[in-house]
Amino acid sequence: MLSCEVILSKSALEHNISLYRKLTSETTKFTAVVKSNAYGHGLLEMAGLALSAGADLLGVNSLEEAETLRAKFPQATILIMGSIPNLSLRKHKLADSNFWVMVSRLEEMEELSTLSPAPKIHLKLETGMSRLGLDMIQIEQIADEIKNRKLKLSGLATHFASTEDFTEHSFSMKQLQKFLEGVKVFQERGFADLILHCASSASAMLFPEARLDLIRVGISMYGLWPSLETKLSLSMMGKDIGTLKPVLTWKTKIQHIQELPTGAFIGYGSTFKTTYPTKLAVIPVGYYEGLDRKLSNTGYMLVHGERARILGRICMNMTMIEITHIPDAKLGDEVIILGSSGHEVVTADDHANWTNTINYEVVTRILDQFPRTITH
Ligand SMILES: *Cc1c(COP(=O)(O)O)cnc(C)c1O
Repeated sequence: MLSCEVILSKSALEHNISLYRKLTSETTKFTAVVKSNAYGHGLLEMAGLALSAGADLLGVNSLEEAETLRAKFPQATILIMGSIPNLSLRKHKLADSNFWVMVSRLEEMEELSTLSPAPKIHLKLETGMSRLGLDMIQIEQIADEIKNRKLKLSGLATHFASTEDFTEHSFSMKQLQKFLEGVKVFQERGFADLILHCASSASAMLFPEARLDLIRVGISMYGLWPSLETKLSLSMMGKDIGTLKPVLTWKTKIQHIQELPTGAFIGYGSTFKTTYPTKLAVIPVGYYEGLDRKLSNTGYMLVHGERARILGRICMNMTMIEITHIPDAKLGDEVIILGSSGHEVVTADDHANWTNTINYEVVTRILDQFPRTITH
């Protein structure tokens, strides 16, 4: 499908990873989180770029994503962070010593330890997110059982629930404390050399004590802030990690131009009526391609470095934008959906604000079928 194109900036990605490298010690591994088609950026393209920028691991949600990466990158270490449905039927696919699998239950550990070669097992501890993870009430018995049955354990992990949502971080600190108590239970039973990890983009930025042996960075690697609160928290702490650079530009071309008189209606539901003679450009991107329909009559794209506002409803495969004030705009000219043009910029955060969601969702919903092109 060629209705639009996603451009990935290699130098922006290298820059974003280097900001984290400056924060962490040399022994802290960097996991490039590329789940969900690399947050819409393109799984294989981003994985390749992240590995050549020095990422130590690739982080995914599912077994399928891990298999896709393994076919292209035979040597890569891959951290599977989500749960694996039907594990007992599919576990043979996990027989790979460079797969690191995060599990929540003893039964999952038992299943995986029958494999040869066995993947590395990382037990996830539930510390406050109430999603995946071992219930800490049972932790002592489970640790005893793991020891008695001589099951191999390579790491312990947890995930913060609300670092991104607040500038007050006592909940995250409680989670970290709970996690470290869990770690102690295992260390007291002789488990040594465990790889400990809990930090994603925001917590790795904000809490030096949470970086531990490995950080799992998604959104900021793509050059997007985890949230405004993360930015505020950092400045309230008197810290500055530098500027994140967005990796992705999403663009298309003008497909059709209309000259409308005063009083014309635009799009389904005739939700927009012109009040002056209006020049309109039609672009071949709509909600199927990943534009949120809540952008109808809201927000703008960029043409020749000028803002071209969205008029009428977003259609399934098309959108209308105003170019009355951009007289040079012609068929085939470039339209920036996300990215910069001249002195203007449209960010994933702009889209998120216009549609009442988060930048994560804005980029992740970009359809996977367009070409992803890498630039320097
Ligand atoms: C998605 C995910 C991350 C990455 O989070 P960001 O906020 O994008 O950095 C880290 N850890 C786990 C367990 C995840 O699922």
